Amino acid sequence: MSLWDPRLMAGRAPDGPGLLRHFVAGEFVAAGRRFTKRSPVTGEPVFEVVEADRATVDDAVGAARAALRGRWGRMGERERAEVLRRVADELERRFDDLVTAEVADTGKAISQARTLDIPRGAANFRAFAEIVATAPTESFTTVTPTGGRALNYAVRKPVGVVAVIVPWNLPLLLLTWKVAPALACGNAVVVKPSEETPASATLLAEVMAAAGVPEGVFNLVHGFGPDSAGEFLTRHPGVDAITFTGESATGGAIMRAAADGVKAVSFELGGKNAGLVFADADLDAAVAGSVRSSFTNGGQVCLCTERIYVQRPVFEEFTARLAKRAAELPYGWPADEATVNMPLISRTHREKVLGHYDLARAEGAEVLAGGGTPRFGDARDGGAYVQPTVLAGLGPDARTNTEEIFGPVVHVAPFDHEEEAYALANGTEYGLAAAVWTRDVGRAHRAGARLDAGIVWVNTWFLRDLRTPFGGVKASGIGREGGVHSLGFYSELTNVCVDLT
Ligand code: NAD
Repeated sequence: MSLWDPRLMAGRAPDGPGLLRHFVAGEFVAAGRRFTKRSPVTGEPVFEVVEADRATVDDAVGAARAALRGRWGRMGERERAEVLRRVADELERRFDDLVTAEVADTGKAISQARTLDIPRGAANFRAFAEIVATAPTESFTTVTPTGGRALNYAVRKPVGVVAVIVPWNLPLLLLTWKVAPALACGNAVVVKPSEETPASATLLAEVMAAAGVPEGVFNLVHGFGPDSAGEFLTRHPGVDAITFTGESATGGAIMRAAADGVKAVSFELGGKNAGLVFADADLDAAVAGSVRSSFTNGGQVCLCTERIYVQRPVFEEFTARLAKRAAELPYGWPADEATVNMPLISRTHREKVLGHYDLARAEGAEVLAGGGTPRFGDARDGGAYVQPTVLAGLGPDARTNTEEIFGPVVHVAPFDHEEEAYALANGTEYGLAAAVWTRDVGRAHRAGARLDAGIVWVNTWFLRDLRTPFGGVKASGIGREGGVHSLGFYSELTNVCVDLT
């Protein structure tokens, strides 16, 4: 069986699980203990994965450092942009294998992997090739104390060795969102994908080699967080900067680890995102958009809506339509084109999400759709599926309305006035994203200014332009990535001051 046999998408490895290895200094490495990656569709083992120990992480960081001293370190921006375009070409050539890898690890619907996850991988490399090749740097002419002139200009340099640590929900998309700008700026990276999604990152290593990325520029180590590859990497003295996407609590742990070496951090963290539906909204669009924003990727997108506040005149109708649509979302095997619902990433995560469903009931919620697990009568009963769930009846301070659940679940509640809507939306410790549904142009712009969120969508959701700033406020993150903002994190500016007199 090829390592990327499409039968993996059905949650089975017919000839036994294939081995996923580290990639260090341009070579695949199998040293270390092994752990089993199970399919979220069936619960069966699909991959054996090598877990990096301290020595392997050390080798990876050393390889990255050596690459900075070699040919890679001498390349100009245009040459690096060319390398990034070759990576995008190669990602497109391996498209079907990447779809298989992503679906095997996550159980996501093939239609989503084909239209979102994998195309965005290539798009990230193309976008940052363009951005780095065209980004200006600043320059000032200064009057000197003697009345002469001095020229100040900034030179952009790489930060050095960047550790890239990412979660399991959109594995290739989120990994390349960080690797592409890091390489565009001339850094070398050591990446650690989630232990739940080792496959597409392993394929990305093959892509890097085939695209001619010099050895040591892209290194990959597999493993877990605490006392494993993640922590070894964030504590490593040879790492200059850490870019991380994941839970807010993990961000705190990484920040403590980074404090010793005073390493730069960029954090994209959790959310408890609100949707606001005003009575003047196009209700068809608001319902369809809220179905997407609540249930895409099994609700496992940091940007997903978990709370919707609806203006009272349309509350009943909106809620009834949302609950009906949630109950009708099609199940199926991941490779079926019509499938929308996907399993959660693991049985462990399912326990957490079902615990929240129970908590909501204990808090007094009314369950308008879902609330449990589906039964299939086939191998998917061994997987990690839950039902898309719509809840109502709880106050804004209920744990259901304040804690990130990260599953296909949304709570709906009414509001009367615009100010009240903003206060409700802003009433959690998070501030990642918001979706506003209104036809009032003035209100659309007011919402953008009033909502505590890194991104405010109006009459849409998850529409991304890669040149725009992306990040979170409050517990949802530190810093912004995207466009020139990524260049800000992944490079150091040296100001050169030349006295012209
Ligand atoms: P997680 O924080 O558990 O794990 C993320 C990564 O960090 C994994 O690779 C994990 O192995 C590693 N890790 C865990 N503990 C570590 C430690 N102590 N030191 C170093 N590395 C460590 O997150 P998850 O469960 O994989 O992902 C879901 C979370 O990610 C949700 O909270 C979601 O909102 C968030 N997320 C945020 C964004 C964003 O852009 N803001 C995007 C996607 C996901």
